[in-house]
Amino acid sequence: MKYVMIIPDGAADYPIEALGQKTPIEVADTPNIDSLVKSGVLGRVKTIPRGFIPSSDVATLSLLGYDPKLYYSGRGPFEAANLGIDLKENDLALRCNLVTEMDGKLLDYSAGHISTKEAQALVKHIDDKLGTDKIKFFPGKSYRHIMVVRDGKNLNLDKLQYYAPHDIMGKDTSKHLPRGRNSEIIIDLMNKSKNILENHEINKVRVDLSENPANMIWLWGCGAKPVMPSFEEKFGLKGAVISAVDLIKGIGKTIGLEALEVEGANGYYDTNYQGKAQAALAALDEYDFAFVHVEATDEAGHNQDLRMKITCLERIDKMIVEIILKGLKDKEFRILITPDHPTPIAKRTHTDEPVPFLISGTGISSNGFSRYSEQVAQNSSLYFEKGIDLLNYFFKF
Ligand SMILES: [Zn+2]
Repeated sequence: MKYVMIIPDGAADYPIEALGQKTPIEVADTPNIDSLVKSGVLGRVKTIPRGFIPSSDVATLSLLGYDPKLYYSGRGPFEAANLGIDLKENDLALRCNLVTEMDGKLLDYSAGHISTKEAQALVKHIDDKLGTDKIKFFPGKSYRHIMVVRDGKNLNLDKLQYYAPHDIMGKDTSKHLPRGRNSEIIIDLMNKSKNILENHEINKVRVDLSENPANMIWLWGCGAKPVMPSFEEKFGLKGAVISAVDLIKGIGKTIGLEALEVEGANGYYDTNYQGKAQAALAALDEYDFAFVHVEATDEAGHNQDLRMKITCLERIDKMIVEIILKGLKDKEFRILITPDHPTPIAKRTHTDEPVPFLISGTGISSNGFSRYSEQVAQNSSLYFEKGIDLLNYFFKF
């Protein structure tokens, strides 16, 4: 049996007045997804356990059957895994953003979506100036990098209160620095980075070109490497993750799934949808399980782009679901489609309500629904209060 999961990130939504109190999922023309509902089961799942901030990392752990309460300690270690950074038991990994600070306020969490080439030079420069035998900076992509603190767990640095830079846009940086015992270690690095970056040639050029300079580092998402059983140990299946998002790839690598590179997969509206479907089919030739994640629908929610949210759902139906179904039609397979969390247009951010899922394929008969939608799914008696139970159900069903 081949198993495929498709995750339209943030696709679930609330009824919208402009759509006649329908949701983007209900309005989108998705014949393949609807036919899967007709032949399969529709239900709801809560992917964000109580007490967690709704985010893709927490939700993805749930959907992959790993309890966030046991295994989630910040996004740093998962992104470090994606970069192939080896963390020892007492090491901590922090996400290190290149940001733009202006007049004491956080102007841009992404330093103008700085290019990877410029960013890598800046992060290397930061590492030359601030790196020690305990502290090391690793370049990633664009504004997203990693700092590792060797033996940082002994300094309590994973227990500090950190602020995500995208949540404090336009606010005073000084009021949102890390808090707690030994926080001065992290604050000192963030403050020192300002002088180091301000005068760098790359930033002088960026200012000349009216681009946001990367004039500060912002440290957050701190955690130690989680000790997790591999996916194969847990479920007896080998698999692959297909995503443009480093964090999702990093979660996959941490549990021993192969993270496939798809050319043109960019985490945005114009991502290479067909390429992802083909990568999933290629993965299923070799493995039992494929996890296909599409970020575009979440971006549309954050950008409050209603039309694009609908369009991206239609692209997922036509360019991913249809291709995968054609590719698997002579095989025994099951497919699970579910958003990780809602990113409602009205809220422009993630929420923690249950999301609608569908399961269809070999050995599964209909539970009586014909349309994929948040509202229709509320009528289903199939509900998983604990997100981690969904995958077991999918495999054992
Ligand atoms: Zn999001």
